[in-house]
Amino acid sequence: MEFDVAIIGCGVSGASIARRLSAYSIKTCILEKAADVSFGTSKANSGIIHGGFHHNKKHLKARLEIQGNLMFDQLRRELNFPFRRCGIIVAALHEEEMKAVEQLYLQGIENDVIGIELCSRQRILELEPKLSSDAVGGLYAPGGGIIEPYCFVFSLVESALKNGVELYKDYKVCTAARSGEYWEIRAEDGRVTKARYAINAAGLYADEISKIFGAEDYSITARKGEYFLLDRLTRACPSRVVFPVPTSVSKGMLVIPTVEGTALVGPTADAVEDKEDFATITKNLEQIIVSGKTMIPSISQNDVITAFAGLRPVLKSSKPLPGNWTDGDFYIDASQKAPNFVHVAGIQSPGLTASPAIGEYVKNILLEMGLSLAEKPGRDPFVENRPLARRLSPDELNNFIAKDSMWGNIVCRCENVSEAEIVQAVKLGHTTLDGIKYFTRAQMGRCQGGFCTYKIIKIIMRKTGLSFDQITKHGGKSRVLEAAL
Ligand SMILES: Cc1cc2nc3c(=O)[nH]c(=O)nc-3n(C[C@H](O)[C@H](O)[C@H](O)COP(=O)(O)OP(=O)(O)OC[C@H]3O[C@@H](n4cnc5c(N)ncnc54)[C@H](O)[C@@H]3O)c2cc1C
Repeated sequence: MEFDVAIIGCGVSGASIARRLSAYSIKTCILEKAADVSFGTSKANSGIIHGGFHHNKKHLKARLEIQGNLMFDQLRRELNFPFRRCGIIVAALHEEEMKAVEQLYLQGIENDVIGIELCSRQRILELEPKLSSDAVGGLYAPGGGIIEPYCFVFSLVESALKNGVELYKDYKVCTAARSGEYWEIRAEDGRVTKARYAINAAGLYADEISKIFGAEDYSITARKGEYFLLDRLTRACPSRVVFPVPTSVSKGMLVIPTVEGTALVGPTADAVEDKEDFATITKNLEQIIVSGKTMIPSISQNDVITAFAGLRPVLKSSKPLPGNWTDGDFYIDASQKAPNFVHVAGIQSPGLTASPAIGEYVKNILLEMGLSLAEKPGRDPFVENRPLARRLSPDELNNFIAKDSMWGNIVCRCENVSEAEIVQAVKLGHTTLDGIKYFTRAQMGRCQGGFCTYKIIKIIMRKTGLSFDQITKHGGKSRVLEAAL
């Protein structure tokens, strides 16, 4: 296993870098510790393609956000993931909040945000009629949008693999040593990968990877964001992303339409010690509903189908890091201590939005470090647009059933997912319950897998040869069924 570049971590950062590098005649691999891709922070976030007005351009994250946002239309054409430029509004509910809104507007102008508008009360209510009648005005950025973050990662990875990148899952990087011009990167299970360049895109664990490679010293702590997911029958789903006026630590509690017609309310922002603490807390969830209702009064607890949490990777360093890094910013740079090692760390929000630009930025760092990049002849940037039962008309679905009866067996009735789609997900390597969920939406609806989980387990068993007690929720020890004693 000898490569030019090894990318550690397959969230949206690693996947975007891999896809960018797949355009060149080099050997690239991704080493991911989880059983599937996008199982880190990239699976649990707001899914917003930010509008480019929340941060000052002096920060790298703001520049990459602006650039990344503009790349999404082309990416959608090539990669076929669900994406909607629904626009973003920031709603002021008191006159005194309008000062902060004006500052955001001026920042947006400074950042060249296309079409940004300072809105009167009448205009903001026209843009979002579900908004509280207390609204006094706000901001509108028409270029903001929404995606399903894991679908985006799956498409990036599929495209990268199609163009020669290799992916190793269940590969937890534990040690690294220099051997000639190569890094020898060893996994917990003893596998070794050799690569001339290593990229640290390990999210919450980027600090550990940096230590393993003898690179710069920093720590990553987790800041939790909890959400409520509202059923698509809710009357509260707005047609645009609705932000409150932001605070100094977070963009505040939002109401977000999803591309699948459901709505999210959240996230909170609380420092937690444990990087695996995804618990949701009743007290916080009550607060989410209260905050959400101040903006969209029709939010009702009866529409809640589930709660979940994501963890932001907050980078701290006791000493200034080399380069222009400032507190709270992304840290994307070549190491000055470890040879041929690149940090992609502290990728908090707007990491999803910025990710395509992160791919480009890291490619340029590698070029500056001396990696030669010749364009790959015959590269195919497109991924297949797969049929989905829920998007087919009855006639179209009948045609599919005539060719393959599995299209007629609807496994997940909340989200209308057929057996044919589950089988395809398994064939593409998604063999855990969460992998199937994020790839197909089965288990994501109102019943949260109550009716379909056992059917999915049986399909995974049939297609992989795994026994029932080997099926996991998300790999490792997360087994869902135990053999009777
Ligand atoms: C609550 C919340 C809301 C957010 N909302 C938005 C939003 O609306 N819009 C936006 O633009 N951004 C948003 N973000 C930010 C965005 O989600 C992140 O910036 C982005 O997902 C980070 O991706 P990543 O690939 O850097 O990290 P991750 O997705 O965490 O990926 C890191 C990967 O590295 C792997 N890994 C770790 N250690 C090892 C090891 N030893 N060996 C091998 N692999 C390893 C992990 O398993 C993981 O898959 C939000 C974040 C949060 C938490």
